[in-house]
Amino acid sequence: MNNQCILIHYHEISLKGDNRSWFEKHFVENIKAQLHSLPYKKIKVLAARIFIIGIDRDCYEEYEKCLKNVMGLKNAYVMSRSDLNVDAINSEVQSQIKDLSFSTFRVSTKRQDKNFQYTSQDVNQIVGASIVAAYSKKVSLDNPDLNIIIEIVNGKAYIGYRKIIGYGGLPIGTGEKALSLISSGIDSPVASFLLAKRGVDVHYIHFHSVPSTSIQSINNVKAILMQLSKYQIQCSLYSVPLLSIQEKIMKNISSKYWVIFFRKAMYSISELLAKQLNINALITGENVGQVASQTISNIRAASDAVNIPVLRPLAGMNKEEIVNIAEDIGTYEISIKPYEDCCSFFVPKHPATSANLADVQNMEKAIRLEQYYEDLLEQITEERISIYE
Ligand code: ATP
Ligand code: MG
Repeated sequence: MNNQCILIHYHEISLKGDNRSWFEKHFVENIKAQLHSLPYKKIKVLAARIFIIGIDRDCYEEYEKCLKNVMGLKNAYVMSRSDLNVDAINSEVQSQIKDLSFSTFRVSTKRQDKNFQYTSQDVNQIVGASIVAAYSKKVSLDNPDLNIIIEIVNGKAYIGYRKIIGYGGLPIGTGEKALSLISSGIDSPVASFLLAKRGVDVHYIHFHSVPSTSIQSINNVKAILMQLSKYQIQCSLYSVPLLSIQEKIMKNISSKYWVIFFRKAMYSISELLAKQLNINALITGENVGQVASQTISNIRAASDAVNIPVLRPLAGMNKEEIVNIAEDIGTYEISIKPYEDCCSFFVPKHPATSANLADVQNMEKAIRLEQYYEDLLEQITEERISIYE
């Protein structure tokens, strides 16, 4: 019988009290969706761990690639299951390490099953001593070449050394829905990823100025969402033609306020769509001080008219930190492709850097953009995006 499995430790789910099994259920569903094309026999939840049983060890790299992307996963090990006695554990350890090249090692045991007569420290010492005797290798607790993991769970020992490190956080789908305002820039994909990492089911709204700008921004956004669907397997993209509203703004409002009014329109339309979709929060990639439109006064002026909470996970991050995440999640290369964004395309040379709220509110009363929004909502198109398509 195949005794190969993957043992997963989840992250913050372990802090959850009564509804832990609800979180585990979402987590397991997300794992199944990620592993849909890889072999395994079943998935079991046991003692705050998830076991993927009956895997094919040769596909290690593919399992790693898929599991890394499951939000909520802290780490995972490819393990062999053995009987729970010292001889069986020693012989499994030796068969796993005999062809590996290493000079120093350590053994790290976790004993969930307290019925086993040896403590974790006993097991470390017994197994460590037998490796030293058989291979004359040295122990290094702080910086070993090889860390042998042994977990003793429910009457069995699980042994392995290959570690998969995840992003942690919470399983997607446990954190309600949010609507993310996505451009094809660097920031908004990172902001969306960070909230997906908190378990939020993220859907997207993108504003474009076609035909005044090319459809490149829409294509870039779709490519970014394909990339993000590695983490959240399915999402909807709502595309909004903003040009008619922008023309009204450019005709009636002084150019230094254009960007703020473009943003205002984006916020209000996003809020209306979110209401229709029963979504309770927006997400943006705004970042304090990064560009003229993102001073605190301007963020206030732009979002003043909406009541829905706006989540801004990048507000206090440095550009370098954001770029590092974008590179890691695979969106950076797409975001730096040239595109004409609906805002920057029309941006004047000297945008207002600290908008006066009362002035903006007066202009807003005069232009009454909200009268056009109902029509615009009718023109929004929805596209489902999934890694499987
Ligand atoms: P990004 O890299 O995300 O485009 P940015 O630093 O370029 O951000 P801005 O262009 O000022 O900043 O946009 C601020 C935020 O407004 C973006 O992070 C995004 O959430 C939203 N946004 C900007 N342009 C669009 C757009 N065309 N469609 C939807 N949302 C947008
Ligand atoms: Mg931008």
